[in-house]
Amino acid sequence: MQDNEVMINYLLEHGYADAKVASALRKVPRELFVLNAKEAYVDIPLSIGHGQTISAPSMVATMSRVLDVKDGMKILEVGTGSGWQAAILAELVGKKGGVYTIERLGELVEFARRNIEKLRFKNVRIINADGSEGLVKEAPFDRIIVTAAAPEIPEPLVRQLADNGKLLVPVGSKYWQTLILVEKINGKVERRDLMEVLFVPLIGKHAYGEGLE
Ligand code: SAH
Repeated sequence: MQDNEVMINYLLEHGYADAKVASALRKVPRELFVLNAKEAYVDIPLSIGHGQTISAPSMVATMSRVLDVKDGMKILEVGTGSGWQAAILAELVGKKGGVYTIERLGELVEFARRNIEKLRFKNVRIINADGSEGLVKEAPFDRIIVTAAAPEIPEPLVRQLADNGKLLVPVGSKYWQTLILVEKINGKVERRDLMEVLFVPLIGKHAYGEGLE
């Protein structure tokens, strides 16, 4: 795939993206978030240094679509990485919405900040912390998305989910995980297994220990 438009058409044709996600992708080109712009439009995860990756476009499109983001929502992302997913969410919530994204590695917080600044989003906050604890002072969130793999659903995130909210999180071992959709419907928590996925580990208090690095 040689450019963003070709990639977006591929994502639409294969059902990864819907029209809304496609128009957000058009405004948030992946080449601004990778180390080598020439590799941006291949459907694979790419290294962003520090042992971490920017997810594959089909994965980011799928998660953005399944999250069912609406204008004005307040979203929490755990695992900022390059900032690409956060910028797409910022586009989807619009000016009245807000995205809080947490990253544990200081170098990647800086990397993501520089990337997101290129697009002048004012509705994204990047926080250097352990996202497995959520972000109590901004809770509750309409949507929560975890882009690293947890051994189980981090309990603080379920607590910080608003009523009628949705939480997407990959849960499983270091080698494969199941993407789980958690929904809070009138206070009742329901979970649904969506698909098999592969993410780098979530490392923190309600996640894997440091030893996994
Ligand atoms: N969403 C990113 C890709 C994320 S890769 C993108 O669009 O590029 C997963 C990220 O989660 C890595 O940057 C890793 O450092 C981070 N991470 C791992 N454990 C974390 C934790 N407990 N809190 C916050 N970030 C974490």
